[in-house]
Amino acid sequence: MSSTIEVLPGRAASIAVAGEAGGAMVCDKHSLAGSVTQRACVFCGSRVVLYPIADALHVVHGPIGCAAYTWDIRGAQSSGPQLHRNSFSTDMQEMDVIYGGEKKLERALMELIEKHQPKAAFVYSTCIVGVIGDDVTAVCKKVEAAKGIPVLSVASEGFKGTKKDGYRAACEAVYTLIGTGDTKSIGPLSINLLGDFNIAGETWIIRDYFKRMGIEVVATITGDGRVDDIRRCHGAKLNLVQCAGSMTHLAKKMKEDHNIPFLKVSFFGLEDMSAALYDTAKFFGDEQLMDKAKEVVRDEIGKFYPQLRVYKEKLIGKKAAIYVGGAFKAFSLVRALRTLGMTTSIVGTQTGDKDDYAQLREMCDAGTVIVDDSNPLELAKFCLEKDVDLFIGGVKERPIAYKLGIGFCDHNHERKEALAGFVGMFNFAKEVYASCCSPVWNYVPRRARSQRPEVSGQKSDAESQTEVAS
Ligand code: SF4
Repeated sequence: MSSTIEVLPGRAASIAVAGEAGGAMVCDKHSLAGSVTQRACVFCGSRVVLYPIADALHVVHGPIGCAAYTWDIRGAQSSGPQLHRNSFSTDMQEMDVIYGGEKKLERALMELIEKHQPKAAFVYSTCIVGVIGDDVTAVCKKVEAAKGIPVLSVASEGFKGTKKDGYRAACEAVYTLIGTGDTKSIGPLSINLLGDFNIAGETWIIRDYFKRMGIEVVATITGDGRVDDIRRCHGAKLNLVQCAGSMTHLAKKMKEDHNIPFLKVSFFGLEDMSAALYDTAKFFGDEQLMDKAKEVVRDEIGKFYPQLRVYKEKLIGKKAAIYVGGAFKAFSLVRALRTLGMTTSIVGTQTGDKDDYAQLREMCDAGTVIVDDSNPLELAKFCLEKDVDLFIGGVKERPIAYKLGIGFCDHNHERKEALAGFVGMFNFAKEVYASCCSPVWNYVPRRARSQRPEVSGQKSDAESQTEVAS
């Protein structure tokens, strides 16, 4: 199947095909003007990382749209406080832009802290704050002194880089909490979980595996996060970094300043989840711990494997497109799809770097399209050309898939289904099966027409779909 969509010349170097010759992909750069990127802004990057800290106040200093756009942005659950689910904004108006918004921000913080009694407050700078130059840090310091809780400025002006710069700003802000709590009661077999956001309760699933191994989880940063846990997390002996794109910066800082080593892991898919438990046991060099890890893996896989085999029989040979935020999730999804007998025809990320894309080229089947910082037209083009059965992505990719008549699986932070851990792999398989194998896709114009005899002069399905997408 072919399409008439052309890739913009400035984007060509950010696309590669596995198995074909070529140098390193161009990535980790500002999005090309006019390409209508799928990426979010710097502010959004910070907001998604810090949002799950449930007992903190999150105040967006900017026009109301920035706060509305990120309100309750993740399906991050809390086992206690729900303060994070509010979206507080200084709602900057014309006069604030002309005369400055510092006083308004100070008033808002004083009032909100008085009313909600949070453990800490995060203040996010948006584009306009960067333009007019409000001294957010000075306001934060003043309020912190007056109220006696940490008030942290997040330097997340939307225009000043990519979403990845937002991750970094979030790490810098949260880092100021670390090292300020008491670590005396923390035991030798202790870890922090970095970069799991407790979407649909996933952090609780992972915590349970480690608890069964006898490992103490000191802090979860940031899923179901608590300020006091973060303050003492420098007492843990190991950091596990699940979302490498967002949290490697924090892990590196903790290694430099607190001498805590870190391992990059993934909790998605049977292989990667098992490896995360084994690697943790190996790190502590404890035979008994390894035995317990094996026990957890054996028990969990035993529970779900028979049903996974049933799904695999139905899914063998189906083709998928993946477009996600970070590369580590993409690696796991390629492997998880293989477990289900499926192939990955397209894989892309918003924030991957050169090494990530080199690894994807290595691990994917020949012919797989690999793309950095893509846009709707490119994704539509590749989906049509590869005639995929499933698109795995987030809220911005869902309409692309449905318009093309392709099954969709939400693997982003808005989802309501836990997809991490062994049970998560089972949920994933169930959802992939339900999406891919639904009979409804036989009736979408592209597929339905391919069943009919060709009419002379009739446009190909891809051509027609491409025109719609254009
Ligand atoms: S910070 Fe800037 S780019 Fe981000 S939502 Fe607000 S105005 Fe838009």
